[in-house]
Amino acid sequence: MSAFDFADLELFITGPTYIRPDVRNAGVLPEFGHRDAENDKRFVPIFANLRALAGIPAGCGDYEVILYNGSGSTVLESAIRSLVADDETVLNVSVGAFGDLWHKMAQVNGKKARQYRFGWGRAVDLESLAAALEESRPGVVTITHNETSTGVTNDIVACCELVREYGALPLVDGVSIFGGVDVRLMEAMPALYATSTQKALGLPGGFGIAFVHQTAIAKAEKVANRGYASDILTQLGRARKNQTLTTPNTTLANQMCVQLDYIVHTEGMENRFARHAAMRDQLAAWLAGVDGYRFFAPEGHRAPTMTAIEAPAGVTPTRLKTLKEAMRAKGFLFDTGYMKMNDYLEAEGRPAVFRIGHMGDLTPAMLARYLDALEPELALVREAARS
Ligand SMILES: *Cc1c(COP(=O)(O)O)cnc(C)c1O
Repeated sequence: MSAFDFADLELFITGPTYIRPDVRNAGVLPEFGHRDAENDKRFVPIFANLRALAGIPAGCGDYEVILYNGSGSTVLESAIRSLVADDETVLNVSVGAFGDLWHKMAQVNGKKARQYRFGWGRAVDLESLAAALEESRPGVVTITHNETSTGVTNDIVACCELVREYGALPLVDGVSIFGGVDVRLMEAMPALYATSTQKALGLPGGFGIAFVHQTAIAKAEKVANRGYASDILTQLGRARKNQTLTTPNTTLANQMCVQLDYIVHTEGMENRFARHAAMRDQLAAWLAGVDGYRFFAPEGHRAPTMTAIEAPAGVTPTRLKTLKEAMRAKGFLFDTGYMKMNDYLEAEGRPAVFRIGHMGDLTPAMLARYLDALEPELALVREAARS
């Protein structure tokens, strides 16, 4: 290991996220055969704990869970391929880069796709969404729960309810929020909810996770050309046996078994959600005292898992890159923000937006240390932009 000189930075980016020592250590647990009884010892509790984290009542058959080899994007594309029929429209509701990604996936898979986009930093507005549904009459609607490029969280319970009123299937991307909040799955009742391991679950990347409602399973049976690994029904055949369709990363499976057990049975879900809410409030209290910097997301739509911060006028992405190196020297990995959005904002003459990830297993004490280290650097950047 030492031959490679890897820096052990504390990650405050929006994914991948910090890994607890116990989860790192679980990486040395034994490898196993994924069609052997040893597989069940890992995946039976993994599936059960994922259901618990999503708030699915024990024995409830409304939702089934699939673990995809890949990541969150793998689930998003699988949903498009399996759930959007050729003769219908998919409406891709977007409040930023990850909403746009789902639209792109619909287009490159040859689906009839329309995008309904809210400006950078805005949340889904229900009245506008109703008008868009009225106009497009889609069969399927994609929505981002937490838009990681802007730090904006949408009210998915209200959004999904509205989409269902129009007779469409709501699909939700919850990649950067699941594991940090109660996602209220049973209330929102999306046809599919997607997430992945490397964000608020505090694990390395490698699995995409899908909660699939029975309405989606029934729908997939009527959709042509679902592919193979992208087919929800093929995936489901293995998931029902607590397996993955193709060979899983067994190191990650061991770590995931340990981590989900810790989340559900040691830390406790309520405590985990409360810790995330506390870090959001901690950040808000801190930001109020930092001259010139402000929230990018509107009040009421700020994520407990990450925060996007608008820098003072004159702060360019280049200056943020310099700041990133200063933070690296202090042992932290700083997030300079979503590059494509910052390029756009710079072209408009607007200041750059950076992000602070505070999800997974980061603690308020770790966040406090990070903010203490960051504050003088932010002042330097502000002064440099002024002169
Ligand atoms: C990170 C992220 C993705 C992409 O997830 P991968 O696991 O990297 O494929 C999709 N959507 C959102 C909201 C994200 O934050």
